Amino acid sequence: DELSNKIAAGEVVERPASVVKELVENAIDANSTVIEVELVEAGLTKIRIVDNGDGIENEDCLTAFRRHATSKIKNEGDLFRIRTLGFRGEALPSIASVSEVDLKTSCGDEAGTHLYLRGGEVVTHELYSSRKGTDITITNLFFNTPARLKYMKTINTELGNITDIMNRLALANPHISFKLMHHERKLLHTNGNGDVRQVLASIYGIRIAKNMIPIKASSLDYEVDGYIALPEVTRASRAYMSTVINGRHIKNFGLLKAITAGYHTLLPIGRYPIVFLNIKMDPLLVDVNVHPTKLEVRLSKEDELFSLVEGSIKKAFKKEQL
Ligand code: ADP
Ligand code: MG
Repeated sequence: DELSNKIAAGEVVERPASVVKELVENAIDANSTVIEVELVEAGLTKIRIVDNGDGIENEDCLTAFRRHATSKIKNEGDLFRIRTLGFRGEALPSIASVSEVDLKTSCGDEAGTHLYLRGGEVVTHELYSSRKGTDITITNLFFNTPARLKYMKTINTELGNITDIMNRLALANPHISFKLMHHERKLLHTNGNGDVRQVLASIYGIRIAKNMIPIKASSLDYEVDGYIALPEVTRASRAYMSTVINGRHIKNFGLLKAITAGYHTLLPIGRYPIVFLNIKMDPLLVDVNVHPTKLEVRLSKEDELFSLVEGSIKKAFKKEQL
């Protein structure tokens, strides 16, 4: 019901950046190759996401906004075999319950769907013809949850959070072209050609990206590769450390510690690297179901991974004779 949607929204939809994350992840799950995000006032006034993915069948559109109706988890074992970014069927109903949603979607073959919801209630549901893909606009976010709205920070802070999540999604998905616009300003644009260094260049600039050195190593259970900036190009926060496991951007403090440990004595106190690390492992060894935002993960055989990561960075610097 609407109340449980609003409660769930409190967990999944904290701020505009969480809306962007959930919707862009849906576009990724739908096999999109081009994803464009348009914001007005850091998403508080408007978030529009256009993709060229599979679209949603007309008969599935209403279900998509019903809580857990689309859950991909049928039994406990499924949790460990998740290949898609979303799996709880929670995001769309949660977002819809605290905003106005305008959805235009088509699977390409026959007529698509136009759906308009206000506070989770369907206002318009009609056939609508368009090209294949999904075009979803969220307006008036948190209009019916004033307490949440009050908790929003400045436009710049909210925008920073959105840019951060978009950068990470772009790094995790170099084969997808991402574009992020705020009013008339272009904040990110990747070409989707699969080259991680090109994504790094669009985020950090060509000069930094060109000077990042490759990381590559593997152990019995893990494979890591990525890029790390030279020790003279550090930052004062961990925000420039991106870690991806099996295509999913994640947060794991131990992993960040292993990366900085790889710098050994090269890293000044209070400084952090610019790094992108892509980890591949058996999905059975990772549990993504720790937190609703799926950001924090629990790993089996953590120590094996941490020493592999630390060693891979030491090795990369040694090659550069640092
Ligand atoms: P989840 O991603 O956990 O399955 P969501 O609430 O995020 O749940 O989305 C519900 C369902 O709506 C998805 O499972 C998917 O089938 C469909 N969907 C949402 N966004 C898109 C999109 N951009 N393109 C195609 N299908 C989508
Ligand atoms: Mg989802």
